[in-house]
Amino acid sequence: MKVILLNQDYSYINSITVRRALKLIAKKKVTVEKYSGKIVRTVTEDIAVPLILRLVYLVRQIYRKAVTWSKKNVMVRDDFECVYCGTGKNLNIDHVIPRSKGGRNTFENTVTSCIDCNNRKGDRTLREAGMFYKRHSFTPYQPTVMEFIRKHLDSIGVYDLLVKAGIY
Ligand SMILES: [Zn+2]
Repeated sequence: MKVILLNQDYSYINSITVRRALKLIAKKKVTVEKYSGKIVRTVTEDIAVPLILRLVYLVRQIYRKAVTWSKKNVMVRDDFECVYCGTGKNLNIDHVIPRSKGGRNTFENTVTSCIDCNNRKGDRTLREAGMFYKRHSFTPYQPTVMEFIRKHLDSIGVYDLLVKAGIY
């Protein structure tokens, strides 16, 4: 069982063990935002196990930092779906401005694309190829570390829990 540790400003920091959580509580470094409903029995007392803790003091965050560019991180940003047709198979990276025309490996210039759509677009720009993004409001952008953490929390189902607890 894991306990969610939040920063003082309610941003997510980490999942920690119950043992570590109880130590932080004993040292008065955290307040309990929500209990799990479980009890740990020791020789001398019954201890309510926390589910969500929040630090008393703000820890400086790296979460606003930019994620470094990589093919995998572009795919994480785009939820491992081709931005043109939505498939999750045979994925690759497509350059908005083709590399042959000076387009670079940046988040603003790369999108997740399946091999078929990639070949269809070829060495052309979107407009030249007459293609569109599946999500019409989509524009390739530079994600932050916090966004990636949220995506991760979402994928393990913790994000919903935090929303329900009124934390996000
Ligand atoms: Zn596609």
